[in-house]
Amino acid sequence: MSDAQVSLFTRIINREIPADIVYEDDQCIVINDIAPQAPVHMLVIPRKPLAMLVDAGPEDKMVMGHLLWVAGEVARMRGVDEAFRLVINNGAGAGQTVFHLHLHVLGNTQFDETNLATF
Ligand code: 5GP
Repeated sequence: MSDAQVSLFTRIINREIPADIVYEDDQCIVINDIAPQAPVHMLVIPRKPLAMLVDAGPEDKMVMGHLLWVAGEVARMRGVDEAFRLVINNGAGAGQTVFHLHLHVLGNTQFDETNLATF
């Protein structure tokens, strides 16, 4: 893979770009979003650089489940496990800007239907 194809999040995983790391294990990393849309806004990112959710294959089912479990764990760590929201933007048309799959974990904010589209 050429440097140009290496995603921003892979560069963060490889410590080439600094980030505020909340959690890390053999399958994923969790960082605080650089431009938070809520008081708690973390990104759960698989080490495997799947560009979008739809790029996941049957062999990725285990890691996909792991990402959900980790989202709950870090929500608990940050004290927002009573109320948090998970968002995955799939494709530019849905607002995806970084093409390395990630789950947004949003908490400590007022949730209503009007802010669903802004994350
Ligand atoms: P997307 O729009 O692709 O669903 O979400 C990408 C997210 O990555 C955005 O919320 C954006 O603020 C965040 N982001 C972009 N660049 C960086 C960065 O360099 N560091 C961190 N921590 N987050 C970033």
